[in-house]
Amino acid sequence: MSTAQIRHYFHSRTGHLALTYLAIIMAMTIIFSTVLFSLASRQFDRPIEPHGTQRIIVAPSDDLLALLNQRAADARAELFLNLVVLNLAMLGFGLWLSTYLAGRTMEPIEKAMREQIQFVSDASHELRTPLTALSSLNEVVLRRTKKISDAEARELATQNMQETNKLYMLTSSLLGLVNADQQQVTLSPVDLQQAVSDAMEHIISAAQEKSIEVEDTTPKAHVQSQSERLMQVIKVLLENAVKYSHPGGVVRVYATVHGSVVVLHVADTGVGIAEQDMPHIFSRFYRADQSRNKEQHDGYGIGLAIAKSISDQLGMNLRVKSKIGEGSVFSIDLPLVKE
Ligand code: ADP
Repeated sequence: MSTAQIRHYFHSRTGHLALTYLAIIMAMTIIFSTVLFSLASRQFDRPIEPHGTQRIIVAPSDDLLALLNQRAADARAELFLNLVVLNLAMLGFGLWLSTYLAGRTMEPIEKAMREQIQFVSDASHELRTPLTALSSLNEVVLRRTKKISDAEARELATQNMQETNKLYMLTSSLLGLVNADQQQVTLSPVDLQQAVSDAMEHIISAAQEKSIEVEDTTPKAHVQSQSERLMQVIKVLLENAVKYSHPGGVVRVYATVHGSVVVLHVADTGVGIAEQDMPHIFSRFYRADQSRNKEQHDGYGIGLAIAKSISDQLGMNLRVKSKIGEGSVFSIDLPLVKE
């Protein structure tokens, strides 16, 4: 569905909803007015009797009766007119109120739908790249008339494998992104040193391959969090720190304690992030210009979106300070558990 189609769809849905709201408001106003009018009419119609409930000591003359009846009829007509005016005013107000309420109701739904469509379109775009590579590799072989040698077959299988691995990594990341939003939040004390060292295990061989030194001075502390998801966030930050560091660089993990909060930092001496990219790096599928060159830095712009989503759910306030060419420091706040 295109943006114009979504807008048109929601425009007509908002109109329908506004009409439904207006019908409800007007039905209530009309019912209220009818009940009020019939109750008042009953009072106007009560006969004036010398021995009735009214305390009339002298029997009223015919002229007085006619006058009283006339006043009752006038009062009824005036009440009717006032109620009609009130209902017309309510129609105008109801029209404004129902349009406003329908707009407010549909706004978050439209936003969610736009995000879903954007997500599907970005994911399809990313999936298409390795798929295209796979199909062109196979096409080249199928078009060949000459017999394929063992070495060529092995080379082809290796390239196929690489593209298949990329697809696997991408689908895992996409699943991670979907799961990040959907898990329940139940916090419990987590050993911070353990979480960091579990995350380290995933990056240590990549760091060694690039001769990157990894320093971990995380203090012994327990924090209120979710161990698996905290580890996932630290893992994303460490993976990026290694990925965006130059060979021979240094990645440091350390923590500072501020009262009842432990701030965990993952710092690198890598490429850094440009000022203009800073507001976007936590958005899904966003990659800064210098990272787009996938030959240099493999990735899909999903890691930080997952880390941000988890951090927001666990109240960890993930943030970054960075200088292009000098490196970056990503930080998260964790509530300290008093031992
Ligand atoms: P990916 O690394 O797969 O591109 P991420 O969502 O993890 O996706 O990161 C988004 C972007 O933020 C990256 O493309 C990169 O431009 C930038 N970035 C993240 N971490 C770092 C870092 N430590 N140093 C420099 N740039 C970084």
